[in-house]
Amino acid sequence: MRSVIVIGGGISGLAAAWQLRGRADVTVLESHTKVGGKLRTGTIAGITVDEGAESLMALRPEAVELAAAVGLGDALCDPAQAPTTIWTKGALRPLPAGHVMGVPTDPSALAGTGLLSAEGVARMCAEETLAAAPLTEDCSVAGYLAARFGQEAVDRLVEPVLGGVYAGRAERLSLRAAMPRIAALAAQGGPLLPALRRMKAAGAPRSAAVAVQGVAGGTGRFPQAVAEACGARILTGTTARSLHRIAGDRWRVQAMTGDGPLTMEADAVILALPAFAAAELLRPHSPLAEADLSAIPHASTAVITMAFSRSQAHFLPEGNGFLVPAVDGHTLKAASFLSNKWAWLAEAAPDTFVLRASVGRIGEDQLLARPDRHLVRSAITELHHAVGAMGEPLAARVTRWDRGLPQYGVGHRERVARIREAAAKLPGLALCGAAYEGVGVAACVATGRSAARQLLAGS
Ligand SMILES: Cc1cc2nc3c(=O)[nH]c(=O)nc-3n(C[C@H](O)[C@H](O)[C@H](O)COP(=O)(O)OP(=O)(O)OC[C@H]3O[C@@H](n4cnc5c(N)ncnc54)[C@H](O)[C@@H]3O)c2cc1C
Repeated sequence: MRSVIVIGGGISGLAAAWQLRGRADVTVLESHTKVGGKLRTGTIAGITVDEGAESLMALRPEAVELAAAVGLGDALCDPAQAPTTIWTKGALRPLPAGHVMGVPTDPSALAGTGLLSAEGVARMCAEETLAAAPLTEDCSVAGYLAARFGQEAVDRLVEPVLGGVYAGRAERLSLRAAMPRIAALAAQGGPLLPALRRMKAAGAPRSAAVAVQGVAGGTGRFPQAVAEACGARILTGTTARSLHRIAGDRWRVQAMTGDGPLTMEADAVILALPAFAAAELLRPHSPLAEADLSAIPHASTAVITMAFSRSQAHFLPEGNGFLVPAVDGHTLKAASFLSNKWAWLAEAAPDTFVLRASVGRIGEDQLLARPDRHLVRSAITELHHAVGAMGEPLAARVTRWDRGLPQYGVGHRERVARIREAAAKLPGLALCGAAYEGVGVAACVATGRSAARQLLAGS
């Protein structure tokens, strides 16, 4: 295998290109004017901040290791230490430390937080006494966790976390795909709480460390650094339109650029695309893969970034931000106080306070249809209720991520297995991206590198 075309210049495709460096002549096709996909910086009030992903999971190594390998080691930084906070029932309420996707290992610590009613706390604590047969089939997050801990725990503790990570809902997301650590414990049978505590204790050195890291200057710097270090030819503003099998088991890609059509050929192709875009290109080659890829739903979200003058704001909040349960009916699903969370930003812009609010879970398309100025106004009003009246921002900007987050529904892992089986029948083709084994940046890096290894192994 001498030449590879990677279609999609998000972090998954760039990680694949990095893995292939020195082993193949690699070209990356990216439809946007810049590489990075959901990792992107932009400026507000003259300050550079992240518009998409803002952190890299540090508990799994793939993203932080790659960032260090491409020269960003010194830029990796920890967020300020602060508890995960939930805005519910009229106040900001901290989740007890040591939770796994919103499930506290010691629910009695919830007493007095106001997150759950006394009955809700008692119901959670009683989980230790409930028999539990090993879970043998996938089910929804809500289906499993409500039976173990009660619906109130799902609504007030788990849903806000799922909204933040997946823009998803507990009744639709797959336990196995969206909460693999809890699903693995459920598969063993027995009460979950002692198993969660054992898991936490076994992972103590790592779980004591920070769960995520950022990149000084913005996590959006990461893909650019990978693009520069991987040595691939990067063609931005180039959208792949169709994929053709040609003689010698090679592939031809037809693309559109600002200067007109472009045709390229290579020994292998990696599709590092959202599921719906990969489905389009695979339609003539694998109707089975196309059908399964097309069936993966996507949630759209919007990020509302605001900059406030520190001297003119009436009030500035403390902490790193908050998550919001869908059951409370607010517009916001999360807020991140970037200037508190990231020391590099506070140093870069000492006179300005930057925060971002997020809106949009799966099924909230009507909300996202509102014009930008309405979203900004709703965000200011709700922030006022949640933390206090800050006054008017110096600048506000809405970044829309249309179909930005794939939803891992019940049976997702089986769906992905079918897609991978179908793709394996197409020699010289590999798939990677957020649609498959994890939406986080670390999981995307892992799929990119694994797609490249798969091609190298087959050549
Ligand atoms: C608002 C938001 C915040 C997030 N925050 C975090 C976070 O803090 N931490 C975390 O770990 N994860 C976070 N995520 C998730 C994570 O950022 C993404 O899942 C991940 O970056 C996806 O990478 P990818 O390369 O698989 O896909 P993408 O980033 O979507 O890249 C795919 C690329 O393919 C290009 N493309 C599409 N079609 C074509 C075509 N036909 N031809 C050529 N190019 C094409 C697109 O332009 C895009 O650049 C967040 C996601 C969103 C939306």
